[in-house]
Amino acid sequence: MSKGIPSATVSRLVTYLRVLSDLDKAGLTRTSSDHLAAEAQVTAFQVRKDLAYFGSFGTRGSGYSVPGLLLELRRILGLIRPWRVAIVGMGRLGQALADFPQLDEYDFELVAAFDVDPVKIGTTLGGVDVHHSDDLPTVAADKSVDIAFLTVPVDAAQAAADDIVRSGIRGILNFVPTVVSTPDDVRVETVDFLAALKRLSYYLHGQVPAKPDELLIGGSR
Ligand code: NAD
Repeated sequence: MSKGIPSATVSRLVTYLRVLSDLDKAGLTRTSSDHLAAEAQVTAFQVRKDLAYFGSFGTRGSGYSVPGLLLELRRILGLIRPWRVAIVGMGRLGQALADFPQLDEYDFELVAAFDVDPVKIGTTLGGVDVHHSDDLPTVAADKSVDIAFLTVPVDAAQAAADDIVRSGIRGILNFVPTVVSTPDDVRVETVDFLAALKRLSYYLHGQVPAKPDELLIGGSR
């Protein structure tokens, strides 16, 4: 299914899903590629091109059925089945993610957590039992974990990723600002908020002037 589909298309499908969900909640039953495009901030041509990778969903003249296209997108994105999630690293970020209420909106079920800190092991944090990372293989198999959130310090990331891979988990959502190496059959998606912040700095720089004495490079500091 994912072979040959540009990752930018997959990202936009996730946006279309959110837009359609909002339209559905608002009680709309039909939409058009123009409307979807405006809400998703892309062109109508782009919407039609993205959807055309997967089949023909709309009707010329009357557009798309909102619940129909919503279901198709959920099917395409694999969001019609439960996914069992474990968090590896129950520090500040791991615990915040465990408490995130929208995790179960699409059947992402948090089933286990792992850490190496003796103070945390054996406790329940964010409604889930914290196990020692050494027990990843047995607990992951027992709980049929599909996806691991990686939320450990940078210097522990590769070893923890190796443990996750050895446990048979095939999807890693990596929050650590470093690259982790995994075999080809393990998919890693990275969430890097510092990288996004630097991109934001790039786009704002030039629009928002800094005073010369505030410049860190080429200034007085
Ligand atoms: P933290 O120090 O509060 O927590 C890290 C936890 O990982 C600790 O509980 C520690 O005991 C545990 N740990 C260490 N080695 C481990 C191992 N091998 N297996 C399992 N657990 C292990 O750190 P934090 O603030 O929660 O940040 C965690 C990571 O997330 C860092 O790499 C940080 O840079 C990153 N981060 C990412 C984002 C983002 O948006 N992507 C935002 C903030 C932090």
